[in-house]
Amino acid sequence: MSGTEKILVFVDLPEGLLDETGRGLLSYGSRLAGILDSVWGAVIPCEPAADQVAGFGVYGAPAITRVVGGESLLDTPALLGKTLAQLATEERAAVVVLPHNDLGATLAPVMAVALNAALLTEVTTARRGPEGLRLSRQALGGRVAETKVWDGSRPLVITVPTRSLSQVLLPTVRPTAPVVAAWQAAASPTGAAARITNRIPPDPQTVDLTEAEVIFSVGKGCDPATFAQLKELCQLLNVSFGVTRPVYDLGWTGFERMVGQTGRTVTPRFYLALGISGSMHHVGGIKDSRRIIAVNSDPKAPIFTNSDEGFVADLREVLPRLLARAKSTGGGAA
Ligand SMILES: Cc1cc2nc3c(=O)[nH]c(=O)nc-3n(C[C@H](O)[C@H](O)[C@H](O)COP(=O)(O)OP(=O)(O)OC[C@H]3O[C@@H](n4cnc5c(N)ncnc54)[C@H](O)[C@@H]3O)c2cc1C
Repeated sequence: MSGTEKILVFVDLPEGLLDETGRGLLSYGSRLAGILDSVWGAVIPCEPAADQVAGFGVYGAPAITRVVGGESLLDTPALLGKTLAQLATEERAAVVVLPHNDLGATLAPVMAVALNAALLTEVTTARRGPEGLRLSRQALGGRVAETKVWDGSRPLVITVPTRSLSQVLLPTVRPTAPVVAAWQAAASPTGAAARITNRIPPDPQTVDLTEAEVIFSVGKGCDPATFAQLKELCQLLNVSFGVTRPVYDLGWTGFERMVGQTGRTVTPRFYLALGISGSMHHVGGIKDSRRIIAVNSDPKAPIFTNSDEGFVADLREVLPRLLARAKSTGGGAA
């Protein structure tokens, strides 16, 4: 890269708000610009509220470009992708950063084709090496890990998993007061093969644990009664449930519920470990959770040293109380 080309970060602003994913993207873009010694800017599809613009400034966003008519293109990602590619070409963007959510993962290949760019999805880390930018990715719940080098000879489109974005720390850059500039595509793209008619949020009871937001897991410290209570609690609170290997070995669940190094590697924002000792095989699969709380009757259980908070308690007392509480408050999302 020459240092004059740009990094464009697409922030989709769901319901006009700069959410956790958006903030993570801005933080990612800012860091990438530092690594590549390049300028960067944010692209948005809709008009943000004034206080949201200030949020961009916290991350040092130098400029915000609003795509005129972008909001109506959100339901036709193929057209939005082509429109964003036009903008990227005009801005001589060398790198386009997208979230690896439904929208970003659909936009990425469309943009890569339009820009004749290299495409790398689910990128977690980026480092400058002698041969170019070294990009590492972990996909399919950690089962795929690879590092590729981008030499800058053609544009690059990357997606960043939202689980990594939610772990991006507070910025350490100088805040800015960015101005929103409207941009209109010279030619309206045509040829959308599909239009989104409805969005159905994932069901925590069936979602793959690698994608789950909140997981309550039990280990060998449970018995059939407390295991049944945990499942009921998860249903009431609409959260996902997981188990350790000994519980899976009992045949109480399918393999897809087993968490750990040989089971699912999970990254929820909240992981509740109930009656789990904290073996390295289990902890290896949960260590990237944002917050871990453990309940165990043994104060010396190793899980406590791997938790943000711990409670020494018996599941036979804790679970009925949690369940009664959830029932009295009518459950709802955790
Ligand atoms: C190659 C290999 C791969 C493995 N992969 C995995 C994996 O992917 N995932 C996995 O989970 N394991 C895996 N294991 C197994 C792992 O090593 C541990 O044996 C397992 O994680 C322990 O599960 P646990 O914590 O449920 O059981 P235990 O280690 O038996 O711990 C039970 C805990 O419950 C507590 N307890 C007991 N009664 C109560 C109560 N009434 N109230 C509260 N607390 C109570 C105890 O104090 C104890 O800490 C693997 C092992 C090997 C060799």
